[in-house]
Amino acid sequence: MSNQTADIAIIGGGSAGLELARMASIAGQKVVLFEQGDANGRHVFQRIPLLVGKIIGNRRFVDAAQSVPQTSAGNRQLPVLTGRGLGGSSRVNGNVAYAGSTLRYSHVFDPLGLDFTDILNDMNKDTTAPRPHSWNDALSDKFLTAAQTLGTPRVDDPDQHGALNGGSILHVNTKRGLRHNHLENFRANANSNNIEIIRAQASTITFDGNRATGVAYQTGGTTQHILAGEVILCAGAIGSPLLLMRSGVGEAQMLASAGLPAVHNLPQVGQHLKDHANLRLPFSCDGHNTLNQKTRGASALWEGLKFIAGSKDSILRGPGASAGVNVATKGDIIDDSYRIQLVHFTQDRSKVSQSGIVFERQQKASLGIYALWPKSEGAVRITPQGAQIDTGFLSNPADVQTTLAGMKHARAIMSEMGVGPDPQTDIDEELMRNGVYSGYHLIGSNRMSMDAASGVVGPDFAVHGLSDLSVCDASVLPDHLSSHSYLSVIAMARMFGQIRGWL
Ligand SMILES: Cc1cc2nc3c(=O)[nH]c(=O)nc-3n(C[C@H](O)[C@H](O)[C@H](O)COP(=O)(O)OP(=O)(O)OC[C@H]3O[C@@H](n4cnc5c(N)ncnc54)[C@H](O)[C@@H]3O)c2cc1C
Repeated sequence: MSNQTADIAIIGGGSAGLELARMASIAGQKVVLFEQGDANGRHVFQRIPLLVGKIIGNRRFVDAAQSVPQTSAGNRQLPVLTGRGLGGSSRVNGNVAYAGSTLRYSHVFDPLGLDFTDILNDMNKDTTAPRPHSWNDALSDKFLTAAQTLGTPRVDDPDQHGALNGGSILHVNTKRGLRHNHLENFRANANSNNIEIIRAQASTITFDGNRATGVAYQTGGTTQHILAGEVILCAGAIGSPLLLMRSGVGEAQMLASAGLPAVHNLPQVGQHLKDHANLRLPFSCDGHNTLNQKTRGASALWEGLKFIAGSKDSILRGPGASAGVNVATKGDIIDDSYRIQLVHFTQDRSKVSQSGIVFERQQKASLGIYALWPKSEGAVRITPQGAQIDTGFLSNPADVQTTLAGMKHARAIMSEMGVGPDPQTDIDEELMRNGVYSGYHLIGSNRMSMDAASGVVGPDFAVHGLSDLSVCDASVLPDHLSSHSYLSVIAMARMFGQIRGWL
């Protein structure tokens, strides 16, 4: 056992962990940062937006778990993917960049007494999170024009917050066509003199009574121990609740039956897990080549050459989706809203955790649909056999109704575009229940709340009932804030930094 000391031990070098380490190091704090994943942070596939789809089947970059059977989603066990290595999930994400509307933040955070207005405004001016448009083509124009004809205005998202009701070519987190997430920002701006990175999985948080004292980890077959003034857990929506439980913080009976020590009975750990349950409706689009065609043979070579030449319309400059609309049928930030995204390919999604995204060959694309503010909740649990992830997809009837409304709207858009929905789209509810997959926007499993009866951390990010231990990552989001979760997580990290005076 070594007894090295640090001001702060951060567990998890993902989106939130890197942003906190950057801010804390600049503010003069001595940081030890634990990251379980590989050192390779600049794999070429990780920098070129479209190619990330290939590495999400690679265990060097991604942890893939299977959910428990989803009783409201065809009893299927669905892949749950999270990124690993410096950058975490931002290293492999789709790169679509919407922080979310200030109205939605007010709805979620006013009861907790937090005001994100300045943080969101600063993020807009901020060159550390650039958000230019993705590539565009005739099919995207057709999609946005059809949506506009049906009542969803085309907006350019000038405030970058993500329009509550409007459509645009996607904004992506890129600089000069290359992905530019907070790993780049961390490398460019952190004070590396104040950060030590330990490439190891933290096995437990250590405690003296109710006070967190540091982190234990395994290296070379021995247990090492870092003492720290405080511990900040940033291991993500799956990793953070699991590490709390393995360290003895969670529902006492569940911990006892899994043979884990009891440090602090906190039943809300792992509860309220949420995700965007995402459905895709494929359609034929004769006359338009999609990524199914453009990523093969001479077309692929041409797109590569355009990318090297800096052409803005190379398909390599964006993810496989190119445009999206948020539809707030009642102008609502709370209920009934859904998102429809033009996805320029079709794939067998059940294979993604083994092979990454593999495009089909037909001249087809798809519309992706999900409820923006889902109410369905699952949980992360621990059992004698190990971790159990329940995404709870479609378990709340309100989400079923919202998704069905989104499917109906998507079909109307297809019809307006003059493209053909497949005949299988006749059986909506069955298709939906057997078709939804993870949107990879996992949040809420250590949610922020005013008390321990309804959540895990307080508005100051400190774990209820413990001292010198905080959580700051997607797990503390009390609810979805945007159509996508990465920049909302960065907004949370900035709020942590603002509270600590690090900004
Ligand atoms: C495939 C995919 C596509 C996505 N697409 C988009 C998108 O297009 N737009 C968008 O906005 N969002 C997207 N997201 C979601 C977004 O990237 C995440 O919400 C966000 O990155 C979560 O940040 P985080 O800090 O909570 O966790 P992460 O970024 O996942 O970081 C957690 C880190 O902790 C490390 N860790 C875990 N346990 C331990 C331990 N015990 N010891 C040491 N290290 C540990 C992990 O290795 C990881 O690096 C996507 C996510 C995925 C997986």
